[in-house]
Amino acid sequence: MNAYDFDVAIVGAGIHGAGIAQAAAAAGHSVLVLEQQAVAAGSSSRSSKLIHGGLRYLEQFDLRLVRESLVERERLLRLAPALVKLVPFYIPVYRHTHRRPLEIRAGLSLYALLGGLRAHARFHSLPRRRWDELGSLNRDELQAVFQYWDAQTDDARLTRAVMDSAVSLGAESRMPAKFEHAQLEDGGCEIRFSQPDGLYTLRCRVLVNAAGPWVNRVLARIHPPAAQAAVDLIQGTHLVLDNAIVNSIFYVEAPRDGRAVFIMPWHESSTLIGTTETAFQDPDPAKVRPLPEEQQYLLEVLERYFPSAPTKIRTSFAGLRVLPAGPQRAFRRSREILLLTDRPHQPRLLNVYGGKLTTYRADSARALRMLTAALPMHIPKADTRRLALTPA
Ligand SMILES: Cc1cc2nc3c(=O)[nH]c(=O)nc-3n(C[C@H](O)[C@H](O)[C@H](O)COP(=O)(O)OP(=O)(O)OC[C@H]3O[C@@H](n4cnc5c(N)ncnc54)[C@H](O)[C@@H]3O)c2cc1C
Repeated sequence: MNAYDFDVAIVGAGIHGAGIAQAAAAAGHSVLVLEQQAVAAGSSSRSSKLIHGGLRYLEQFDLRLVRESLVERERLLRLAPALVKLVPFYIPVYRHTHRRPLEIRAGLSLYALLGGLRAHARFHSLPRRRWDELGSLNRDELQAVFQYWDAQTDDARLTRAVMDSAVSLGAESRMPAKFEHAQLEDGGCEIRFSQPDGLYTLRCRVLVNAAGPWVNRVLARIHPPAAQAAVDLIQGTHLVLDNAIVNSIFYVEAPRDGRAVFIMPWHESSTLIGTTETAFQDPDPAKVRPLPEEQQYLLEVLERYFPSAPTKIRTSFAGLRVLPAGPQRAFRRSREILLLTDRPHQPRLLNVYGGKLTTYRADSARALRMLTAALPMHIPKADTRRLALTPA
């Protein structure tokens, strides 16, 4: 009799839990996903919804991350055309803009190079005669406008599509199912979780803690205790406005502190604007809520760039980034994922910290490689580099 119920058990059905479930099931492993609420209930439905290289990460010289993100963007455009769409991005430069045209041109040139100089990796400066295309963008002291390409998605739909793909490859899921406790044993792990009808126990070879902002709370319930990464939770708020103010994405600097903010079209007739960066202090990630001062900050941005736009807020949402702890401002900290195992050989536990929606597939493949030594060999069922994703 097999002493293990599953090869891999995963806590969390955000993009990383779904991505690792897909990668493990594609490799032929038996997989169980436990999710306390619903697929994409955490950060994976509260992001800026961009599948992008991350132009601003070039300021931190994070070239590896930008290159990998651009490769994954291309892959997702191919594998998930109904979910990931190429969109024109505009960067307006005013007299007051901190980043000057020369810096932006240099950044976009490097971005194009890292994007493989494909047709949509290129950028241009929009000639003045075409500024009419910019709708109601403020023209006072406007000096230049750059246009380049990146992609937009619906994060929750993308996560559901990855989860559906994992299930079609044989992964099982339980939700709502709350992970309660795990005991690491010599060659695996015993897990306890609760569902509305009671408490369950099962055994797996490896446990993946993909609980997003809850990662260290889940880790604290695993025995014997494993090393925790020092992280901060940073809250990012978005507003959804009732009107279609833009038909492309505008990448602008916040008047207060020069931070990058996106103003984006959203679902035909609305506009999405975000994001903020506020340290989150509450021990419970479920308590994250948009704050009145964040709303004020984002409305100030809109007022500066689209002064005549109506500002009726339909709704707002906040999500939590998991970033390395440190004194620097959040936008200067690394966006690289951190994958931590309990031991270098024959790991029983993998903890997932941070990461990007854009690179979930490459990060999930990397996570699975770190677990290979602890998993049995199977005949692979599929290769995630070639698996199409379709909306449910
Ligand atoms: C404001 C903001 C904007 C962002 N914008 C972008 C962007 O534009 N592009 C990009 O590429 N990335 C972006 N990101 C990053 C990206 O959204 C996140 O890295 C990603 O969604 C994290 O996914 P995750 O699966 O690790 O965590 P989550 O999506 O939070 O999933 C964790 C899941 O674990 C579950 N869980 C927790 N505890 C338990 C338990 N005890 N039992 C069972 N289940 C549990 C939760 O319910 C949750 O569903 C953004 C992030 C934020 C916060």
